[in-house]
Amino acid sequence: MSQDGFVDGLKAIVGAANVITDAAGMETYMNEERGLFHGHALAVVRPGSTEEVAAVVKACGAAGIPVVPQGGNTGLVGGAVADTGAVIVAMARMNKIKAVNADGFTMTVESGCVLEDIRDAADKVGCLFPLSLGAQGSCQIGGNLATNVGGINTLRYGTARDNVLGLEVVLPDGRIWNGLRALTKDNTGYSLRNLFVGSEGTLGIITGAVLKLYPKPLATETAFCALPDLDSALPLLERARRMSGDSVNAFELICRDGVRLSSTYLTGITDPLEQVHPWYALIEFSSTSPTVPLRDTFEKFLESAFEDGIITDAVIAESLDQRRNLWRIREELPEAQKYEGGSIKHDVSVPVRSIPEFIRRASEVVVKVVPGSRPVPFGHMGDGNIHFNVSQPAGENVDKDEYLSHWHEMGEAVYDIVTELGGSFSAEHGVGRLKVEDLKRYRSDVEVDLLRRIKAAIDPDNRMNPGVLFV
Ligand SMILES: Cc1cc2nc3c(=O)[nH]c(=O)nc-3n(C[C@H](O)[C@H](O)[C@H](O)COP(=O)(O)OP(=O)(O)OC[C@H]3O[C@@H](n4cnc5c(N)ncnc54)[C@H](O)[C@@H]3O)c2cc1C
Repeated sequence: MSQDGFVDGLKAIVGAANVITDAAGMETYMNEERGLFHGHALAVVRPGSTEEVAAVVKACGAAGIPVVPQGGNTGLVGGAVADTGAVIVAMARMNKIKAVNADGFTMTVESGCVLEDIRDAADKVGCLFPLSLGAQGSCQIGGNLATNVGGINTLRYGTARDNVLGLEVVLPDGRIWNGLRALTKDNTGYSLRNLFVGSEGTLGIITGAVLKLYPKPLATETAFCALPDLDSALPLLERARRMSGDSVNAFELICRDGVRLSSTYLTGITDPLEQVHPWYALIEFSSTSPTVPLRDTFEKFLESAFEDGIITDAVIAESLDQRRNLWRIREELPEAQKYEGGSIKHDVSVPVRSIPEFIRRASEVVVKVVPGSRPVPFGHMGDGNIHFNVSQPAGENVDKDEYLSHWHEMGEAVYDIVTELGGSFSAEHGVGRLKVEDLKRYRSDVEVDLLRRIKAAIDPDNRMNPGVLFV
């Protein structure tokens, strides 16, 4: 079949207005968040229903054309990039919230729903959908599930995997698997749901999901704490968990340079503490109970930490605005980093108690790779996930592209330490196209073989997002 004939076939399925083939119209779908990749698709298709997705996938299969699922295109490892003349299946039109059951604490959605809309819909009925991240205004739940997204509340509520009960998926051969079951217990063989969560679009297109909801917190307390040193972070986290009745939503560790960057470059942000400190923790407790005196518990926790010298200062957010600004220091830190040139990023996890050792060792090794480079570690200490970002050396004569050319070399140096400590080279962003070599290097032959066999069983012709996970 000619290319024109193929495109006409797609138009017949989704309507001509929902097939984009001109370069200008496709551009936003080709760009990738960090500018590390640029796509070259044959067409972008915007289906409006599961049946349309299935028909598009079938048509692509018949023509031997690869398919790249795309959600909000906020992924950070190049997973939604079409570099193979593929068809991008963009899910934004499938954005219906089909049912919200506050009594049973579930929500059924189409996979193109934007995460923030899901959170808002839960909020309206006194519930919480806990996944929360900087990109929540544009990323979609399908993308969140396909990348098994983490975010700031993982310590308390888990990753995307822990917050989904059922899935609907269009398989690479165009069949529809309807697993939209609202069941917590379902021991009926291999967990297909868990296979598709984290599969990064390589096993099928997620078209719907049954999500888990929770009671909405009635009280939240947030503090920005100064730590005397890195080693205080672990006992502080342990104490927070014990004294709060394990109600810590978030425990974000931030190094001094991170706070300096955010307070220097972000509009409306100042350093919340008067003195300069080497490390900080942004800590949040929340309670869903109307009878728990959360503020009292929070203050007692901070007082005891202060008395024992594991914090040296703290400020508690007294309004929603203050709370937002404290979070901006953390969430917009990568934006602030851009003002001082390039940053080589490592999204890694290690067992929580190894975080201080990891940060110390990785900080030593990166300056050996690029002398003068500046580690800016921060991240979700509570769940073991550190964003070990490394800024280019200071000074006007440093060439950003030359610095970024050390990405791979620096990555190996950092990931070797992560591996020695029993950690993961990709904590929450996935493998995508960016880390395929790392998957081969840092996972055992047995593990990679199992992954490949699963791929071959479900997508034997390698039509679904080729180039992601495996070369
Ligand atoms: C400012 C910012 C902050 C971020 N913070 C975090 C964070 O805290 N934690 C974190 O884990 N990530 C974070 N991310 C990364 C990113 O937002 C997540 O990976 C998100 O889950 C991607 O969703 P998306 O809809 O944009 O997916 P996309 O970027 O469109 O796609 C990501 C991958 O999922 C696949 N995919 C997308 N939709 C589907 C579908 N319906 N079916 C099958 N496969 C699909 C794609 O093929 C691709 O492989 C952040 C990104 C930004 C820009």
